[in-house]
Amino acid sequence: MPPRITALTGHMLRRTMPRPSLDDACTKIIATVGPACDDPHQIEELIEAGVDVFRINTAHGNREQHETVLARIRNASKKCGFPVGVLLDLAGPKIRLGQLHQDPLVCHEGMRITFVRQATGRSDEVTSTYDQLIEELQPGDRVMLADGTVSLRVESVQQDRAECVVTGGGSVRSRQGINLPGVQLSVPALLPRDIENAIWAAENEIDFISLSFVRSPEDVQQLKELLDKHGSSALVIAKIEKPEALDQLEEIVDKADGVMVARGDLGVEIDVAKTPVAQKRIIRVCREKMKPVIVATQMLESMHTNTRPTRAEASDVANAILDGADACMLSGETAIGDHPALAVATMSRIMTCTEQELMRNPHRKHQLNCRVHPITSAVTQAATHVAESIEAKLIVIATRSGNTAWVNSQSRSRIPTIGASESLHTLRRMNLLWGIKPLESRHLEDTSTFIDQMCRWGREHTNLQQNDHIVFVTGTGVVDKAHNLMIVHTVDEKSSVDDE
Ligand code: PEP
Repeated sequence: MPPRITALTGHMLRRTMPRPSLDDACTKIIATVGPACDDPHQIEELIEAGVDVFRINTAHGNREQHETVLARIRNASKKCGFPVGVLLDLAGPKIRLGQLHQDPLVCHEGMRITFVRQATGRSDEVTSTYDQLIEELQPGDRVMLADGTVSLRVESVQQDRAECVVTGGGSVRSRQGINLPGVQLSVPALLPRDIENAIWAAENEIDFISLSFVRSPEDVQQLKELLDKHGSSALVIAKIEKPEALDQLEEIVDKADGVMVARGDLGVEIDVAKTPVAQKRIIRVCREKMKPVIVATQMLESMHTNTRPTRAEASDVANAILDGADACMLSGETAIGDHPALAVATMSRIMTCTEQELMRNPHRKHQLNCRVHPITSAVTQAATHVAESIEAKLIVIATRSGNTAWVNSQSRSRIPTIGASESLHTLRRMNLLWGIKPLESRHLEDTSTFIDQMCRWGREHTNLQQNDHIVFVTGTGVVDKAHNLMIVHTVDEKSSVDDE
């Protein structure tokens, strides 16, 4: 497969073909938007470099900023002619430090730090954003600050104060996160600001909503019910970053539409040495249950400042793909890094190279998928088999809801696959499905015009030639709600681009 980025001139990344392109990686790229990449031109540049979904992180910024960013993404998507998806990340019950009297506060091992309810003006007394923190702590509990940079042990708890001792020193700043590994907190899954943000996402037809610090399947259900009440069919992504979530992983994956391995907080909530194995287990369970899975955080961390990733980072992206991830996510690399578009293009190159190996040994899933009619599931899997046997150049899935493309994605076919739909909503959602290139078509009802349109697109945008085969999965309408038709089409002279 040729590289999708053909030339690098400074920070300009040029493509040979507009997106979608069959040269695009099959594994999807999610990029977090932030001050380093949020102007309209930069957003377009990121789409050109290979972003499939933009993440808006509600832990940062305010409503007005989120609205501006969403409008810019939608405009850039129109300008580039690519239906990029949007994921809104709800902060969930993340606890943070309040304003520190001394900022940053350098914590030395053995030093005493006390949580108090109100700021006192003493540098060793700190507050948090969670009112019940002091009541819910017990002597012996561990408290981690700033993604585990500083660790504390609770020594004693009185009515208005919890005294801790620093067991691992470092420096912390106001508003940095607090993790309490193993402490059962009564904080609800959705805080008032998450509810407001979810309603905003519903009103703005956002495609994916992720929930941080999921502890149980009920947390996911609560968000789904809220979205349902507000007329949203956004896909709910459960972020796995707490030991409680690992304890109920199967049930959470069943309930969610997709999962994120949120390694930043996971690596603080559990021993960092256990995160690689946890990542593999989460991906395996998601693959068994046919749910898309995203691997997130520090994938190309050194590209915050460097123009090349470390060997270990390149391996991290590759290993996530070989494990079966559907998507990889960039956080600070695009949000606040020095080279956002280059980080995306680099991730895309690693993906493309790794996928060549995956094509040799695909992780196949041959099982009926309850998302779709059993006939659709069987025909879609058979279509993959036929396409590979006859060495078809393209598979085209006609899909209204995206569910048929979802099933096809699980087969990890080495044949480039188009998910064709008339619905922009469906096209955007397909951006999380491994290997599916979303392409608009208004001819799903009329099979011969549809075939004609896809052949012309293939002749114009890929190296599809006369006598090449395309396998179509579509429906006759005879079996209600089923894609019961597989067509093997051989490209003929008629679909020459010169006929236009
Ligand atoms: C993470 O913890 O890895 C993560 C993706 O979540 P956040 O960026 O909200 O910390």
